[in-house]
Amino acid sequence: MGELHAEPPRPPVSARTPLTPQSLVERAEVAPHTPEAETVLRLFRRRSREHAALYTAEMRDLASLWSEEDEGNEKALNALAAAAGLRAKLPRAEDRLRDAHLAVTDLPACFACVESGILPVEWFEWLIRSVLRLAPAQRRQVDERVAAWQLDSIDVERFYRELRHLVEWFGRAAVQESPEEQRSVFIQPSPDGDGTACLMIRGPIPEITGFGHRLDAAARAVQDAQRDALTTGAPIPFDLDGDVAREGRKMSLAALRYAIAVRAMLETGPVEVPEPAFRLSVVVPVLTLLGLSHAPATLDGTIPIPARMARRLAAKAPAFERVLTDPVTGDYLPSASLTYRPSAAMAENLRLIDPVCAVPGCTRNVMTVGEMDHVEEFDHEHPERGGPTEIANLHRLCRIHHRMKTAGLIDPDRDPDTGITRWRIAGTLEREVARNTDLITRELSEKLEHAWEQYHGDLEIEALTTQRIFDESPAEIADREESYRWGMHLLEYYSDPEYDEGDDPGPPPLAPLPQHAPPPF
Ligand SMILES: [Zn+2]
Repeated sequence: MGELHAEPPRPPVSARTPLTPQSLVERAEVAPHTPEAETVLRLFRRRSREHAALYTAEMRDLASLWSEEDEGNEKALNALAAAAGLRAKLPRAEDRLRDAHLAVTDLPACFACVESGILPVEWFEWLIRSVLRLAPAQRRQVDERVAAWQLDSIDVERFYRELRHLVEWFGRAAVQESPEEQRSVFIQPSPDGDGTACLMIRGPIPEITGFGHRLDAAARAVQDAQRDALTTGAPIPFDLDGDVAREGRKMSLAALRYAIAVRAMLETGPVEVPEPAFRLSVVVPVLTLLGLSHAPATLDGTIPIPARMARRLAAKAPAFERVLTDPVTGDYLPSASLTYRPSAAMAENLRLIDPVCAVPGCTRNVMTVGEMDHVEEFDHEHPERGGPTEIANLHRLCRIHHRMKTAGLIDPDRDPDTGITRWRIAGTLEREVARNTDLITRELSEKLEHAWEQYHGDLEIEALTTQRIFDESPAEIADREESYRWGMHLLEYYSDPEYDEGDDPGPPPLAPLPQHAPPPF
C-alpha cells in the first residue's frame, strides 16, 4: 500500500476574528481606555516590536558564528566567543548557536514572521525545539506551512496544537540517531542529595538485554555459592561488608548485580589505562572530618556529598593531602615549592581551585583528566624570563582548551595583585574571571563568626559543638566518635614538627579501642 499523503497536510489555520488593539483588549477582559488596557497594549507592542527586533538581531549574529565542521578549532572557538558574548555557560552557548543556524537556514519564512512581529518569540522557540529531530528538508516543509497560518490572529493554544499535529505527521519518518549511534554511558547524581548516583548505560536493546542476562546469571551463580558457603562454612564469595556471615543470609539479587557490575574488570585489550584515571578526590573540611560540623564535602570538586559519607570515605582513604585555606577569605594559601616542576601539594591545590576547566563558560570537570597549564607561558630556555611555576601562575584546563591556548587562540592574562584573569578569545572578546576560592571554608567561617558572636570569645570549636542540635542515632554517634579519633590522629600526624611533605608515607593505622568485656551478669 502506498502512502496516501506524500506531503504533509495543509489545513487552513485561521482565527475567527482578527487580532486588533480593540479585540486584544476584549480578549484580555479588561475595560477599554483604562490603565490596565493601556498596560496590556504596551506589553503587546513591546513584544511584537522591540523584543522581536532584539531577538532576530541576536539570532542573525549567532548564526554568523555557526560552523558545521571543526576545522582549525573554529567551531570550538566560536562557541567560546558566543558564550562570552552571551555570558552563558558553554553548553548553553552551543545550543544557541545550533538553534540560530537552524532558524536562519531551515525556518526562514517563520523567522521573517518573527521579524515582522506577527509570530511571538516564544512560539518560534517552541517551533525550533519541535523540529530539532526532523531532517532539513522536513523542517523546510514545516516552515512553509506554519508561515502560511494566520499567525497575527490565532491564539497560543491553537498554535501549539496545530504545530504538534504537523510535526507528528512525520512520525516514524522523522530522523533519529540509530540505536548504535546512541550507545553511551552517563553518570547522574541523585537530585535529592541522598548520597547516591545513577550510572545509565544506553544502547541497542539486544546488547543491553544481553548484558542484563549475563549480569543476572552471574548474580544467581554467586547467590548459590553464598548459600552453599553458609551451609558448608567455606569462605563466602562477594560478602563485601561481612553482612552475609554476620546475618547468615545470602545477599539479594539486586545487591549482587550491583556488587558484580561495579567490581567488573574493564577489558581494554592492549590499551593500557593510566592509573590516575581511576582517582576519586573527596574534599572534606577538617571540622567535618572531626565530626564538629556538618558542612558537606565534595566529590571531584563539584558533586556535594553528605558529611557522614565523607567521613566514611576519609576513614578508608589510602592517601591524604593537606590543603591550607585562609579561614576567612577562603583563599588557598601558597604552598612552599616554587621550583619548575610543581610539587604534589601544588598539583593538589590546583585541582581544588579549578575542579572545572578555567576557561570562562567551560563546564568540563578537570579534577581527574584535565591538564595543568602556566597562565603566563614558562620559558624553557630562559626560566627567569617566563611565567613562574607557582599557584598564582597556574590553572587547570580541559584538553580541548589547553590545545587552543597553546595554539594562541585563547589567551589569558592574570593580574598578580587581584588574581583576576582576563581572557582574550579569538583576539577580540575579553572576559574577566575572579580567582576561585574555597566555598566550603567560607560557609564554615560564617558559622564560626556566628558562634563567636554568640559565645563572646568562647573557643570556636566549642561553640560549634554546643550549637549542634542534631538528633543522632547510636550508629551515627559511634561513627562520629570514630571519625573524631581518626581526625585527631591525622592532626597529630600532620602537625608533628618533624613532618616532611617530601617524604610522607601517610599516617599509620589507628590503634583499635580496647574491647570491653560484657558484664558477667
Ligand atoms: Zn575547557
